[in-house]
Amino acid sequence: MRLNKVQLEQVDRQIKRMIATDSYYGRLYRERNITGVTSQEEFERLPFSGKEDLRNAYPLGIMVAPQEEVVRIHSSSGTTGTPVIIPYTEKDVDDWAVMFARCYETAGITNKDRIQITPGYGLWTAGIGFQNGCEKLGAMAIPMGPGNTEKQLKMMVDMQTTVITATSSYALLLAEEVQKRKLRDKLSLKKGVIGSERWGSKMRNRIKEQLGIELYDIYGLTEVYGPGIGINCRYETGIHYWDDYIYLEIIDPKTGEQVPDGEEGEIVLTTLVKEGAPLIRFRTHDISRIIPGECQCGRKYPRIDVIKGRSDDMFKVRGVNMFPSQVEDILRDVDGASSEYTVTIARDDDNNCDVMLLTVEGEGRVSFELMAGQIREIFKSRIGMTPKVIVVPIGTLPRSEKKTKRVTDYRVE
Ligand code: ZN
Repeated sequence: MRLNKVQLEQVDRQIKRMIATDSYYGRLYRERNITGVTSQEEFERLPFSGKEDLRNAYPLGIMVAPQEEVVRIHSSSGTTGTPVIIPYTEKDVDDWAVMFARCYETAGITNKDRIQITPGYGLWTAGIGFQNGCEKLGAMAIPMGPGNTEKQLKMMVDMQTTVITATSSYALLLAEEVQKRKLRDKLSLKKGVIGSERWGSKMRNRIKEQLGIELYDIYGLTEVYGPGIGINCRYETGIHYWDDYIYLEIIDPKTGEQVPDGEEGEIVLTTLVKEGAPLIRFRTHDISRIIPGECQCGRKYPRIDVIKGRSDDMFKVRGVNMFPSQVEDILRDVDGASSEYTVTIARDDDNNCDVMLLTVEGEGRVSFELMAGQIREIFKSRIGMTPKVIVVPIGTLPRSEKKTKRVTDYRVE
């Protein structure tokens, strides 16, 4: 999707503001003789930015607004040490709340709703984002923060909460508790707004059924305001994102080139009006695609598909891109399969092709041969390629306390 005229002018203005300061990106663009952008082609030649840049600029190197205009910081820690600090001006905080309120509206939530907020408050952007959006909408916030399930359920009943906001895992925990305690008849819950983690349809359906509510996926990341830059509408045809605040590109993570609309790739975000810490071409490593055409709901905001995974985890066999998440989804649908598996990829020179070996643990209730056949079949129909499958007894594959390494690739680049 190309930048429209207004967006192009906004990006140009952002770059000129950055260059005028001694900020990290201001210096970087000056070094590269970048003075602004006047066309799509010029824009696509701009360097990407990434989390490494934000770490290099720690703590406040990316700040472009003068100190006296910055009213707040947020931080995302990530998994590798140095955190990232994002400064916000008053306008940034307000813009974020406007976007978030728009998310609630898109989910059909109104100022008559009571929104129970269970994501955490503090340095990260979750709880306070849900709260500011709620207040901007004029709904009633019930600012719980995370944990204390006992109290969460009591408030949900006493306050007659109509909307629950949570991570998918906490929403599932609450749903199970509600069922265990047979509380459903005492609740007035209608909707759930769930922070963007990748979550399978099995989990989604369980939360939906156990609580009897509609679910909405909210998208966003701390580097770019926080959650609230997009959400699905009731037609569930992808996530509408707010293109008056964000320009979104989908690129091939290997080549960095934009891919045609409809094709899958990595989401790259550019903030159009952010003052405290504008970002140009920020690589999110989230994999999705632009959904061409207009949504049945009539909203003109463009759409992306639900986030499929992280580009860092993607692997490619015989021209087909895959994610560990897809393998997990398949195994979840196979009776007798445990959640443990490994993928080994190698080159078969004799047959001039790549081979993928999927090793899966079987619980023993279902014959291993039957399971292997079923897995091959689902792979073929859902992913379009068939791996070699070996089923081994439960406990055979190595366990790790840290994140287990699932995929080993022996091919030489
Ligand atoms: Zn829609």
